Amino acid sequence: MDKTMSRRAVLLRALQLPLAGSVLLGLSACDAGGDAREGVALVCADPDTMTSAQESVRRTLRYSEQSPDSNKACSGCAFFSAAQGGCGSCSIFDGNVVNPAGHCDSWSAAS
Ligand code: SF4
Repeated sequence: MDKTMSRRAVLLRALQLPLAGSVLLGLSACDAGGDAREGVALVCADPDTMTSAQESVRRTLRYSEQSPDSNKACSGCAFFSAAQGGCGSCSIFDGNVVNPAGHCDSWSAAS
């Protein structure tokens, strides 16, 4: 009987070790995610608070929170106005908030 218990204990240990390893790996992955979030760029536009018309204009002009070309970002656009808090506004979007690093098809160099 002791031999059976001993085998059972060995089997349980064998199952517990990989499980413990998985938990540790999962925790380290969560920590890595936290570090990655620190590098997330400023997000200005909240689609949940936009009207369908505002969303439509952004979609039509293919607005993006991050310009593919840093030389053609909203902050360098003639229609952009800087605002407090890091975000700005766009006169084409009826003064709605845009990201200084954003971009859309109507980008025009500020003079
Ligand atoms: S027109 Fe486009 S690129 Fe220019 S500020 Fe507005 S959203 Fe940005």
